[in-house]
Amino acid sequence: MYGVGLIKGLGVTIKNLILPGRQFTIHQYPDRKIGPIGLARMEGKNPLAFALSRPGETLKAMMGLVSVPDKRQDQHPRFRGEEFSWYDNRCTGCASCAKYCPLGIIKIVTSPSETAMQEGDKYAIDVFDIDIGRCMFCGLCVEACPYDALHMGSGFEEGTYTRAELVINVDMLKAAPKKPSQWFRPQLTSQNYNPLDSDGKEASSQDVHRHEKPSQSDQEKTWGQR
Ligand code: SF4
Ligand code: SF4
Repeated sequence: MYGVGLIKGLGVTIKNLILPGRQFTIHQYPDRKIGPIGLARMEGKNPLAFALSRPGETLKAMMGLVSVPDKRQDQHPRFRGEEFSWYDNRCTGCASCAKYCPLGIIKIVTSPSETAMQEGDKYAIDVFDIDIGRCMFCGLCVEACPYDALHMGSGFEEGTYTRAELVINVDMLKAAPKKPSQWFRPQLTSQNYNPLDSDGKEASSQDVHRHEKPSQSDQEKTWGQR
């Protein structure tokens, strides 16, 4: 019969509109709202028997006020997450990451650090913005970094209400927990470093490097013989 599908669809729309338990994703996160039937099934009871034995809980579930924890999917330590891990003490301000980013969303502004060259002169980083609202998490910036200063993060919960808030700046990068993804970082894999471990352990700038800084005698041996 014509029109039945329309009415059914409208019924779903109205249900989603008025039932608190079915409102938008953010309402369901991180715990899932559950209705009276689902709640009864979870307890292994007949819905009617459950409603009679626990009317208060049933009423709350009908009003969308009962949440149940959802099992979070296991995540791989090589997952390329949103919040970059940046080690400012390893960064020279060379801007290789910005040049390699295919979307041009990394902005770096440097100034001379005024440290004597012999003392390991490097540029001071005045601006280091990454617009993660446009980032596709390809990781090319991380591959391009010659000093292992930039790493993919391991989280994925940076949702905000405006795009402008998705630009992470130098202060945010400095303050962010140093929990780099294992992706493109075999040194972290070989150390069994897992950014998702619940103990909250961060990786130090020593942990994340691929190459030791050569000692003075190593450099003399290498360069002195040429
Ligand atoms: S992950 Fe890719 S898109 Fe995102 S900042 Fe790095 S190079 Fe650019
Ligand atoms: S993060 Fe790496 S590639 Fe980017 S400016 Fe710093 S040292 Fe250079």
